[in-house]
Amino acid sequence: MENLPFGRPGRFFKGNLHTHSTNSDGDHGPAEVVDFYHRAGYDFLTLSDHFLERYDYPVTDTRALRRDDFTTLIGAELHTGKTLIDEIWHVLAIGLPADFAATGEGEDIVALTRRAADAGAFIGLVHPEWYGLTPDDANIIDSAHAIEVYNHGSQVENDRGYGWSLCDILLNQGRRLSGFATDDAHYLTHDAFGGWIHVRAMSLDPELILESLKAGRYYSSQGPEINDIAIVDDEIVVSCSPAAVISAQGKGARAKFVRGEGLTEGRLPLKRFNEGYIRITVLDAQGRHAWSNPFWID
Ligand SMILES: [Zn+2]
Ligand SMILES: [Zn+2]
Repeated sequence: MENLPFGRPGRFFKGNLHTHSTNSDGDHGPAEVVDFYHRAGYDFLTLSDHFLERYDYPVTDTRALRRDDFTTLIGAELHTGKTLIDEIWHVLAIGLPADFAATGEGEDIVALTRRAADAGAFIGLVHPEWYGLTPDDANIIDSAHAIEVYNHGSQVENDRGYGWSLCDILLNQGRRLSGFATDDAHYLTHDAFGGWIHVRAMSLDPELILESLKAGRYYSSQGPEINDIAIVDDEIVVSCSPAAVISAQGKGARAKFVRGEGLTEGRLPLKRFNEGYIRITVLDAQGRHAWSNPFWID
């Protein structure tokens, strides 16, 4: 469980990794978007504008918008080449240098994401459900750290916002990936404040946040909080904000749950999860989820 954030030094910082501004197809300028998330109680934000020729390959530099209680990570949503069903690729790269060079002639998505990862970026495959990304597509991106398991914009606009199905398939195949939730907000109306992550770090230093992201030391949420996940004897013990269902998912069909009213602790038997990975899901009475990252038992 060494990749999980719980019980580690530091504290949780709330952030959204996927948002657009007027530097691509968003409705609002970078300063306005940063203010909007700052006022809503977030600790950090990435403006991930579309890295496309028609927008002049933007890497939105938000460093001047940082303040004592709010930071930004520099990133972009990368696009080049086509997936197996002929859709242009969408890959999030967080932690890019502001002078990350434009996509080269003939540079495909594998090369572009590898160049971003080599520059230090966290790489996430985004909204797989929305645009029909398959495991065969995902498996060519060997530099990926994570799958976007909830994209709020895709959910409220198209009812295709989730990504755990793809992530579980890849985890079953043995890939060690994390899962993150975002807004992918363009309008700051219906598409804001629906999905985010809580990252564990010693301070709100963008380098430390990025390091924790790449290590998987965060969890995702639509509302509920996960306070702790521990293995105690032969049980997985989960502490969380009041929940209706606390469940564990693992390799293949492996799953366990407890139901109740206002549950703040759930104990799930470890026995069934004898190989592969485990991840935890908390569902509250309003139907909102929190998801841990997967951890491995070997
Ligand atoms: Zn996209
Ligand atoms: Zn996007």
